Amino acid sequence: MQCVYCQNNCIKRGKRKGIQNYQCLECKKYQQENYTKLRIPEEKYEWVHRLNNEGCGMSSIGRLLNISKSSVQRAITKIASQLTLPEIKETSESYEIDELRTYCGNKKNECRLIYAINKKTRQIIDFCVGRRTKENIKKVVDKLLKLNAKKIYTDGLNTYQSLIKAQMHIAYKGCTNHIERKNLTIRMQLKRLSRKTICFSKSEQLLESCFYLYICA
Ligand SMILES: [Zn+2]
Repeated sequence: MQCVYCQNNCIKRGKRKGIQNYQCLECKKYQQENYTKLRIPEEKYEWVHRLNNEGCGMSSIGRLLNISKSSVQRAITKIASQLTLPEIKETSESYEIDELRTYCGNKKNECRLIYAINKKTRQIIDFCVGRRTKENIKKVVDKLLKLNAKKIYTDGLNTYQSLIKAQMHIAYKGCTNHIERKNLTIRMQLKRLSRKTICFSKSEQLLESCFYLYICA
């Protein structure tokens, strides 16, 4: 048999679930002669991306596209790894930062989605998933400082005062209204973040991937 990857000769090597396995002599990759399960077609990846941003959970995407839940999970991770955040070349703009509360793994394990938006264009600049620690918030703030932010609007959390210079930092009630509105939109559009339901993320990594898909829509 010929290798699928490099077209060299393969030899029989072992069986897996009763099916003969082959190994390539050149690239050493294992393979079968023919696979019973088909690969997910390219257009379904596109649909996984679209449905994810329309408030479908992973199980419902699986049901709609007739693929397994784990395939959806793999697809989301794969799509996210291929995307890159749009490059931002703006200076002296105003930004808002906020943290979205959610859970990871179980409902006792709180976790935050910290992110920043441009106050005028409402574009998401950067984000970070994790606990509300100084390091995690610093990642997002640093990105804004790199962009030469004019003003940064935040809520009253103490951590911000130590990270942002006083003349740049603004924190009064109602100054983060834009990002609070954005929070609600995100909660409407990503199933795992919707409130008053039993939905939540099972892992931080997948929450990150799903949000990546959401930004790069
Ligand atoms: Zn090969």
